[in-house]
Amino acid sequence: MSRRYFLESSIVDSKAQLVGDEAKHLAKVLRAKTGEQVTLFSGDGVEHLAQILSIGKSRIELAILESHHISREPRLSLCLAIALPRGDRQRFLIEKCVELGVAQIVPLIAERSVAQPVGNALDRCRRYVIEASKQCGRNHLLRIEGACRANDFWNRETSRRRLIAHPYGEDLAECSALSDQTELTIAIGPEGGFADEEIACARDLGWSLLQLGPRILRVETAAFYVAARLLD
Ligand code: SAH
Repeated sequence: MSRRYFLESSIVDSKAQLVGDEAKHLAKVLRAKTGEQVTLFSGDGVEHLAQILSIGKSRIELAILESHHISREPRLSLCLAIALPRGDRQRFLIEKCVELGVAQIVPLIAERSVAQPVGNALDRCRRYVIEASKQCGRNHLLRIEGACRANDFWNRETSRRRLIAHPYGEDLAECSALSDQTELTIAIGPEGGFADEEIACARDLGWSLLQLGPRILRVETAAFYVAARLLD
């Protein structure tokens, strides 16, 4: 796969512009020349083959040569509602979820949460999504929603099958029907686990509990485990 660049602005008259970090990387680090071809994507499922027309200090002009819808999405649209860890672990989690094909992450604020991803922190998470998509070839961006309180989240998405990863749930190995779903939401708790009251509230609203094996996994391992088991 050739080097991919994320296109923030729209294409006008078959011309595109890369600005900011994307332009600097292409011009200064890779020392791109006019006439070279690169791949552009903007997260809407389309991939463009483009040719560099001019290279400025912080702006590169390109001509769009070809555009194709190319999907590298799994069949199942998996939403993970996660009480996110902090710092590097958060970045690692998001990067791997992009690679594994998770469709959406909702940062959950649970009673025992350690991170509150709002404002700049949320923008940083979205930047991780773009970086990982450049590398792994995804043309649809994993969506990161605004953070939501766990007890509010249980009330949403009533049309989908909804499960909470929980050490006392039903074994994932016995939930083979899960991979036949087209849409699924799985919630993953913080390192301290969901509070009993949060679990009770979710169960009252129709959520079921899913067990991921006999050992207790860290938050990110639980996320990778369900994604790798369920997504193609
Ligand atoms: N002490 C906590 C463990 C938290 S681990 C507890 O007893 O719940 C962080 C999160 O990962 C959990 O809230 C759960 O959503 C998920 N998780 C970890 N190991 C799991 C397992 N074996 N089965 C199901 N979910 C698991």
